[in-house]
Amino acid sequence: MTDTSKNLSQVIRERMKADKKRFWAGDNISEYLDENAKQKLIDEATEAFELVLDRLLIDQETDPNSKGTARRLAKMYFNEIMAGRYEPAPDATSFPNDSADRYEGMLVVRSELRSMCSHHHQPVVGVAYIGIIAAQHLIGLSKYTRIAQWCARRGTLQEELANEIAREIQKATGAVDLGVYIQATHGCCENRGIMAHSSLTQTTVLKGAFKDDMGTKKEFFDNIKMQQEFAPR
Ligand SMILES: [Zn+2]
Repeated sequence: MTDTSKNLSQVIRERMKADKKRFWAGDNISEYLDENAKQKLIDEATEAFELVLDRLLIDQETDPNSKGTARRLAKMYFNEIMAGRYEPAPDATSFPNDSADRYEGMLVVRSELRSMCSHHHQPVVGVAYIGIIAAQHLIGLSKYTRIAQWCARRGTLQEELANEIAREIQKATGAVDLGVYIQATHGCCENRGIMAHSSLTQTTVLKGAFKDDMGTKKEFFDNIKMQQEFAPR
């Protein structure tokens, strides 16, 4: 980082390329930046957003609502809507589930989701149902939602998001039998393009018994139905 002619985002990009590290909108790159670097990147993104607003012919000097918008956008991307790219995985300490009274049933957790499509950077709003058959380890119930949110706070496609959540839950719990069902509305369809309101997209990822055993699969979707009746969406 001795070359001062380069901005930090360029330096980090080159490091990732050298490492053959993928840095798509849905990828976590937290190992390449710390808090100081993040602040520097927010400064650089602010300058870039100022340029975009200039190009859009928006007066950032006299329009009171557009003053500071570039910085607000930069902070929002790094700290909120794409935070899951820049923050390490949430700590999901697991507890052994191997005593005589171990839990052997199905667990279905409903997690609110806020995400963003990587094509148009429009909001994706919905809910994920995560089901597992308890394995050797259990994680706290709130951790399922934390992991789902961490995966969602990036630029994603709903299909990829379901896979990503399944992968991370599998990593955290060691469960081989699991299902992830996502139901979401897309700003993409509502705010632009076909302008269709209340368009709902559903994606499902099933692994192990959730995929191969009809009884387990049915129990999962029955659970979802019960939860939807309790907290309709
Ligand atoms: Zn889109």
